[in-house]
Amino acid sequence: MTVATIPVEAGLIKRPMLAEVVANRPLTPHLRRITLTGMEIDRFGYGGPDQLARIFLTAPGAELHLPDSEQWWPALQAMPAELRPVVRNYTVRRLDAGRRELDIDFVLHGDGGPASAWARRAAPGDPIGVLSDGSDYAPPVDTEWQLLIGDETAMPAITAAVEALPPGTRAIALIEVGSTEHEIEVRTPAGVTLTWLHRGGTPAGGSAVVIRTLRELALPAGTPYAFVAGESAMVTTVRRHLCTERGMAKDRVYFCGYWKVAAH
Ligand SMILES: Cc1cc2nc3c(=O)[nH]c(=O)nc-3n(C[C@H](O)[C@H](O)[C@H](O)COP(=O)(O)OP(=O)(O)OC[C@H]3O[C@@H](n4cnc5c(N)ncnc54)[C@H](O)[C@@H]3O)c2cc1C
Repeated sequence: MTVATIPVEAGLIKRPMLAEVVANRPLTPHLRRITLTGMEIDRFGYGGPDQLARIFLTAPGAELHLPDSEQWWPALQAMPAELRPVVRNYTVRRLDAGRRELDIDFVLHGDGGPASAWARRAAPGDPIGVLSDGSDYAPPVDTEWQLLIGDETAMPAITAAVEALPPGTRAIALIEVGSTEHEIEVRTPAGVTLTWLHRGGTPAGGSAVVIRTLRELALPAGTPYAFVAGESAMVTTVRRHLCTERGMAKDRVYFCGYWKVAAH
């Protein structure tokens, strides 16, 4: 007898899909929650709190052309330069497959970045391409406590992870923002401590507040899982500290540079 195996991801779409803006609302002075809808969003898939959405953008008013292939990268490169969309990486903050909606929280860091500039102006009806591309947050089953560290760009992933933790899970979350007005409301289950770290007037990517705080933090005993994301240099420094000074095994520390301060 042949037993048919159904792939876990059966039915999900692995090529860029067309969507449009439904709403664009400020969460903080530098953070916009943009709700998108599209006919195929019910087949986007959601693997976890850091579910990656690659977004495809065009210049305001221009027509959006998307690579029509699961091999989207070579297809993108093959497009004429004047039609090729800009691609950036974002986190799905909320997916409602039934309503075919997803939310992405965009950090506004100025109009020098095409995605930031787009998010500042995005209005209902504006087109965008979205591609579902996996998730990485995956505490092993033997995890006894979690450490979640990041800046604003990792806030969607960390806050979604925190809100999904079963009550009683031990977790420490440290999120770097500019100041109190850049904090958002987060439901923290019992057992979770979330601390906002303020960099004050120091520009994003230039503050040592995360590593300074971490060095002074008493960490629980037991088997950890750490998720560290945000500006690349911060992430590298934190990972080095956790692995070399706190003795965490490398395979218990997930880390990802979400963006990089431009070299001058
Ligand atoms: C897996 C993953 C998930 C991510 N999720 C999110 C998310 O949910 N929300 C989110 O806002 N970002 C997220 N990011 C980060 C986002 O992809 C980058 O910030 C990206 O560079 C923004 O594109 P841009 O076109 O605005 O700027 P770019 O064209 O890439 O960069 C232009 C300039 O802006 C600077 N810059 C880029 N990002 C920032 C920033 N955040 N603050 C200050 N200066 C910056 C760069 O150093 C560069 O000088 C994620 C990244 C990854 C890899």
